[in-house]
Amino acid sequence: MISIEEAHRRILDNLPPLRKERVGFQESLGRVLAEDVLADMDVPPFDRAAVDGYALRSVDVRAAPVELELAGELRAGSEADATLGPGQVIAVTTGAPIPAGADAVQWLEHAQHSPDTGRVRIRKSLEPGDNIVPRGAEACRGTKVLSAGCTLGPQDLAVLATFGRTRINVWQRPRVAVLVTGDELIEIHETPRRGQIRNSNAYSLSAQVQRMGIQPDYLGIVRDDPVELGRSIAGGLDRDVLIVSGGASVGKYDYLKSVLQDLNVTILFSRVAVRPGKPTVFARNRSALVFGLPGNPVSSFVSFEIFVRPVLGRMCGHSRPDLFRVGGVLQEAMSQAPGRTSFLPAIARWDEGAWRIHPVSWKGSGDMIGFSRSNALVVFPGDRGSISAGEHVESLLLPDFFIRS
Ligand code: AMP
Ligand code: MG
Repeated sequence: MISIEEAHRRILDNLPPLRKERVGFQESLGRVLAEDVLADMDVPPFDRAAVDGYALRSVDVRAAPVELELAGELRAGSEADATLGPGQVIAVTTGAPIPAGADAVQWLEHAQHSPDTGRVRIRKSLEPGDNIVPRGAEACRGTKVLSAGCTLGPQDLAVLATFGRTRINVWQRPRVAVLVTGDELIEIHETPRRGQIRNSNAYSLSAQVQRMGIQPDYLGIVRDDPVELGRSIAGGLDRDVLIVSGGASVGKYDYLKSVLQDLNVTILFSRVAVRPGKPTVFARNRSALVFGLPGNPVSSFVSFEIFVRPVLGRMCGHSRPDLFRVGGVLQEAMSQAPGRTSFLPAIARWDEGAWRIHPVSWKGSGDMIGFSRSNALVVFPGDRGSISAGEHVESLLLPDFFIRS
């Protein structure tokens, strides 16, 4: 049995190199940028009015309140080439180019236009540059506006749009297949006979993969039969990552490891000091990585988060794909048989300036119903047998934390 740290080392030592692909920027949400994006022009491209008001010369309003002559109007989008003379103002809207000769814009709120006289009373003085965004203030042509490695969010799409970058290089996402094995498994539209259960892991695992922005292929249920399992796994090895649920343990009908060996897939570990998820298998051949996850629904879910997520995330180009970790105050005592690091279901809440971690009661690694009430996993160190209420613990926020709490 190896430690979780050693398991992660072996995983990181066996990741394939990243590959780039070029995509339309509207399909790039959540993808990882594989190039630096440079500004192809100054932004703003001209000195721009930051507010609705009057462009003027700040020297003319030093003795405000003063009355100046309204010499015209410049709206956002205007191509006109206006010039402002001494004693004049030009009405501008937010986003309009600043007329030559002006060095500030006074807010509409601090001005009063008299249509009868054609004059504008400016009630307050201004400093040069006030309410003007100078050309290139946000980015000069040639500067880096997005860095390679950035995960593209909606705000980054706006940056790409600003510079007309309709196509960009991102890291490819891995092709992933999911396979489940177990003689007792039936599909969800079927009614279980005695001894049978519905396959749920295929759906939680596929959804976990989807949450990472990857559409997996579901390869179906395979019987606990070495020939059938061998055939299905061989079929899945043309993907970058094959996730197999069940059959990874040491039971008489757990054929995964022997089947992988027969297919010349090297097993890099098969037992990790973690609970749930001890019988997690990690294996590879020249082109594919294989995960064998324990069949118990909670074990399958947690093993995915602990072992598979870091791999799929890095294969997508994310530098830190692991679950977000917070330190908080345990609200109820917990105990375990020491020896393995446990990941136990909990509700994490930010409350009165601290994270509060409430353990969720559940019936063990088969109990997805109890587990599904959690939004986090408490990390229970393997060298501890009990943790008291009020002690500091670490928790991993589950991927849907921000939409489930
Ligand atoms: P195994 O890892 O194959 O020994 O399975 C451990 C437990 O998980 C058994 O009770 C199985 O019935 C259950 N199990 C295995 N695969 C699935 C699945 N795809 N969906 C739901 N439960 C499963
Ligand atoms: Mg089984």
